[in-house]
Amino acid sequence: MLYQASHPLIELRRLHRFYGKTHAVNDVSFEVDRGQVFGFIGPNGAGKTTSMRILATLDLPTYGDALIDGFSSITDPDLVRKRMGFMPDGFGTYPYMNCEEYLDFFARSYGMVGMERVRGVRRVLGFTGLDKIADKPINGLSKGMRQRLSLGRAMIHDPAVLILDEPANGLDPRARIELRQMIRQLAVDGKAILVSSHILTELAEMVDHVGIIERGNLLAVGCLDEIRRKMQGSTVIEVNLLENADQCRIWLSSRTPTLKIEQQGNRVRFDFSGTEREQAELLRSIILEGFFVLAWTAETHSLEDIFMQITTGAVQ
Ligand code: ATP
Repeated sequence: MLYQASHPLIELRRLHRFYGKTHAVNDVSFEVDRGQVFGFIGPNGAGKTTSMRILATLDLPTYGDALIDGFSSITDPDLVRKRMGFMPDGFGTYPYMNCEEYLDFFARSYGMVGMERVRGVRRVLGFTGLDKIADKPINGLSKGMRQRLSLGRAMIHDPAVLILDEPANGLDPRARIELRQMIRQLAVDGKAILVSSHILTELAEMVDHVGIIERGNLLAVGCLDEIRRKMQGSTVIEVNLLENADQCRIWLSSRTPTLKIEQQGNRVRFDFSGTEREQAELLRSIILEGFFVLAWTAETHSLEDIFMQITTGAVQ
């Protein structure tokens, strides 16, 4: 299939989806070009699945539009389905089919016939590494293998766009690395990939761009490095105390009520946006206050910190 180069492969245009009073998706716009992996990150109930389901022609927006290769999921769902594969977060299986039968079944439902279908199933079995267990029944597959099969199903008709809802959920580290390699390869092959997760670090090494969503609102969007640079205005300080970390946390919070602060055992972490001198003065006053400081480290933000800074943790 030929794709038009003049527009992005995935585009959300001022997408809104309301369920009664719940603004599941509230004015979300972004684009994903060919060869790009876009991470759609947000906590439970943020609106990721709703947006993806609209793109995948499984739901309709309240207003706005969702386009695949320039075609609207609302007005041209058939053209969209030909160009897009959706991997939902739940795996709807036919447990007594084996992997090959399962892929063959979906290839048929996309209208693939003859050698095109045989080659398509072989290509996907090879790509996902399921060729060695092609005759294994689905109910005997591990979680990682099921995810591979679910990805295989989404790509059976060789679409230009893949929409993957929480593909890394529940995978062990090895399976996650393998998934990452597959997704990167698909991007190298020129596909546009939208992949969701609750966890920024889970996707950090496979995505080029991210959109961070919470309560239906897109809070940040852009290339990961750009977002990181914007957030680097402050430093994360970690104080390791011999004892009384609780009191130290309370003391710090009372000095600066707006401080984002957390405590784990004897460690207290907080954001600090002052100068180095102010940092040194703060350390001195903690010590003068009578706290025993074992270590004091100032570091730039990790991706996890950035995510925590952008989101508030609110769910709806
Ligand atoms: P999760 O990571 O938990 O899957 P999500 O980011 O995918 O979350 P959505 O599933 O899109 O979030 O849900 C967004 C909001 O819309 C939630 O408050 C959810 O309860 C609500 N919602 C989703 N589908 C429906 C529905 N069919 N009817 C009513 N409310 C819904």
